[in-house]
This record gives sequence, structure tokens and C-alpha cells, in this order.
Amino acid sequence: MTRTSVGDLGALVDRARDGDPRAVARLITLVESDHEQLPELAAALAPATGTGQVIGLTGSPGVGKSTVTTELVRALRATGRRVGVLAVDPSSPFTGGAILGDRIRMQDHTTDPGVYIRSMSSRGRLGGLAAATPQAVRVLEGAGCEVILVETVGVGQAEVEIASLADTTLVLLAPGLGDAIQAAKAGILEVADIFVVNKADRAGADATYHDIQGMIGLADRAPGQWRPPVLRVVATTGSGIDELVAAIGKHRDWLGSHDQLRARHRQRAASEIEAIVLARLQRRIESVTGLPARAAAVAAGQQDPYAAADAILAELGLDP
Ligand code: GDP
Repeated sequence: MTRTSVGDLGALVDRARDGDPRAVARLITLVESDHEQLPELAAALAPATGTGQVIGLTGSPGVGKSTVTTELVRALRATGRRVGVLAVDPSSPFTGGAILGDRIRMQDHTTDPGVYIRSMSSRGRLGGLAAATPQAVRVLEGAGCEVILVETVGVGQAEVEIASLADTTLVLLAPGLGDAIQAAKAGILEVADIFVVNKADRAGADATYHDIQGMIGLADRAPGQWRPPVLRVVATTGSGIDELVAAIGKHRDWLGSHDQLRARHRQRAASEIEAIVLARLQRRIESVTGLPARAAAVAAGQQDPYAAADAILAELGLDP
């Protein structure tokens, strides 16, 4: 738990709302950490909840997430919308801004005051990125970002969780790499609203396209349910980006007309609350005095782990 005072939080939130990038940066640093003023900050940010359109992008390293994000930012800025980008790296305990810092293309946008770009890590945050990312999204919403792109490396469960925080989730694939199969294994297929076959200029792109179409065709889907489109993109030339923006808009319209947007926002809030409850429980479990003795008893075969867990729950004042 970090205790250094950040001063007047209200003033900081006001400055972020006015678009001061340094205030936004400080607030995101705060939500990444385990600061004791987080509840106060969350209360100040609460009214901004749900004001931005959140778009998740996930895919294996090298598939072209950063390049696609850059092109999406360009296309969205052309429509005059304020855009926020969060690059989230679930695999790294700290990044210090390195993910984006060395990405030259993304720097095309660093002088544009209508774009806010930030990389994020969980650092020491209890509850990890699942707890921190929705707050960071809220900071960007509070700063007036109308669209927020959340980019995560697709390698496991964490980014599936993070992707599911989005209104619309893009799953990026590229020829080679066996990506379609990887995506299926990682459970990423279930969270995809739109598939992007990037590097469509490369040999094998058609095979990837047909693989993924085949998988979508096999999925059980109730009538009226959204069928994820598969788009071919060459991010390095911008080819297919306008179609991608159109598909995102179409998905947004579908969400709105099927009452899905509200459902997703509630789902997102439920996950967020759950992450906070679990984090708080975890902190309390660490302070449970009986744990070492129970652990010794279980390790020695003197007690079964369920009985030990019940005893710990009782110590926490919870019914098993
Ligand atoms: P990330 O790790 O998923 O963010 O991938 P990057 O955006 O950093 O891209 C990885 C590499 O693929 C870079 O060298 C890009 O220039 C290249 N790349 C991205 N998109 C395309 C594309 O559409 N076609 C080709 N040929 N290369 C691409």
C-alpha cells in the first residue's frame, strides 16, 4: 500500500478533465499502484464511467497490434474524436513506459493533443491489471477521450479478462505463426467481436482467413447473435483500416440495438467489483495469524486442506 499523499485529488481530476496530459499521467500511475487514495479517486472518477467507447485489441506478439493501433488512431482522429490508448502488458511486472516508448510509429501521434497514449503494467498492484485497467479507462474517460483503445498481448487468461473489459474486442491474427490455432487454445476466440487478419500482404494470409472463417462457422450461435466478421488488413499501408473502423461502428450499433452495451457495462462492473473484493480478501488472508500453523498441519498430513480453509474462513468471520 502506497501512502505518499498525491495532494488534492479533486484538483488533479479537474486538471485531467481539462485535458492536462501530466494530470492524466499522474492519475494512471496512481491506479497502477496500490495507493491508499484509490477509493477516493474512484469516487471522483465514477461519474465519467461509460462515457467512452472502449475497443480492445489482442493478439500474439508481432502480429501487428501496435501498427494497427497507430492506424486506428489516425482514422479516428480524422473524424475529430479524442482518443486514448492503453497498452497493457500482462506478462511484465513493470514496463515504465517501455512498451510504447520504443515504438516509432506510435510517436506519430505524440504531438497530437487529441491523443493520449500510455503503457501500463500491474507493478505491485493487488488485484493486478484486472483491477487497474477499468480505473485507467475511467481516467481517460474523465479526460474526455471518446474512444479508448486497450492493447494487450494475447498469451493467456489475463488478456482475455482485459479484452472482455471492452465494448468491442478485436482479435488480431497474422499468416504463419499458427495463430488461429493459438487463439483457439487461449480462449481468445470466445471474446472476439471482430477478427483482423493483419499482414494480408503476406503469403498464407488467405489460409489464415479461411481457417478462422471455418472456426467461426463451427461455433454455436443463437439466432440474432453477433457473428464476428473477418477483415483483411495491411496495417503498414493502412489498407483495410477504413473497413475496420466501419466494422467497429457496426458492432457498436448492434450492441446498442440489442441492449448488449448496457449488459457489457454491467459485466465489466461486476468483474471490477469482484477483482476488488478478491484483492481485499487476499490482503486479509495474508494477515490471518492461523495460516502458518494450518499450513504446517496440512503439509504434515495432520489436517486436510478443506478443513484448514474452513478454519481460516471462520477466522475471517466468513461462513465456509
Ligand atoms: P505487435 O507486437 O503485435 O504490436 O506488432 P507490431 O505492430 O510491432 O508489428 C510487428 C512487425 O510487423 C513490425 O515490423 C511491423 O512493421 C510489421 N507489420 C505490421 N503490420 C504489417 C502488415 O500489415 N504487413 C507487413 N508485411 N508487416 C506488418
